[in-house]
Amino acid sequence: MGHTIVNPFDLSGKVAIVTGSNAGLGAAMACALAAAGCDIVGVSRADAGDTPARVAATGRRFADVRADLASVAPVDDIVGAAVEAFGHVDVLVNNAGIIRRESALDFTQDDWDAVMDVNLKSLFFLSQAVARRFVEQQSGGKIINIASMLSFQGGIRVASYTASKSGVLGLTRLLANEWAAQGINVNAIAPGYMATANTAALRDDAQRNEAILGRIPAARWGTPDDLAGPVVFLASSASDYVHGHTLAVDGGWLAR
Ligand code: NAP
Repeated sequence: MGHTIVNPFDLSGKVAIVTGSNAGLGAAMACALAAAGCDIVGVSRADAGDTPARVAATGRRFADVRADLASVAPVDDIVGAAVEAFGHVDVLVNNAGIIRRESALDFTQDDWDAVMDVNLKSLFFLSQAVARRFVEQQSGGKIINIASMLSFQGGIRVASYTASKSGVLGLTRLLANEWAAQGINVNAIAPGYMATANTAALRDDAQRNEAILGRIPAARWGTPDDLAGPVVFLASSASDYVHGHTLAVDGGWLAR
């Protein structure tokens, strides 16, 4: 009898939708999923950046989908475009997100609504559209939400961001409860302090930068590539019995 060596992290033939795939963490996760075997449906607002070329360099295909997730209007078209390009959908990474900084006393409704709409409302309705597709395909699938340290902590001067990311942790559990029996894994990744455009303001403030660095056990800011292993794990059969979990990838920040 011969042996078949099975790699539980192999994603060959899978199709992953990644929102906000043009920059930062989304670009790194799209490339990591491609390196593991996925064709990528990259969702971006204006420009796909260098992600199509980076995906092509792995030998996988990239479908460029333009959508503004400030509203839920494009969610069905995103799923439709993925199916049209590659025939099926197996993975959704809800990465697109924004942040607005202001004291709670001065926080505006615009800063509230803008963040909640992208970070929470569109995340939910795109998940719904993709899960409907998973059910139709009778395939199961993987949904990976991008949470935050502020899914666990309060933060300061980021009221709508904290509300949205705390909501992402709760929704990840709810959706896992509803969909686990249909072979759909819903989990989240909570990045710690990662060096991207999202945190440029923090890193530019010498005092904040030093305070944050001094509190990270790993003694460095995270890089987008630090999410490569975790996202591939949660997209793969290696995590088939992991449901509703939010995995911190934070250099030990929460352990402190
Ligand atoms: P980033 O570089 O600012 O990337 C954000 C991504 O979201 C961009 O691709 C952006 O597209 C996209 N996006 C924003 N609004 C959108 C909209 N209305 N429609 C479609 N796409 C939209 O920041 P990042 O750090 O990589 O953030 C990615 C995710 O990680 C976010 O959910 C963020 O909250 C989360 N996160 C980041 C950190 C960190 O330390 N960096 C920590 C915890 C969690 P455009 O280029 O068009 O704006």
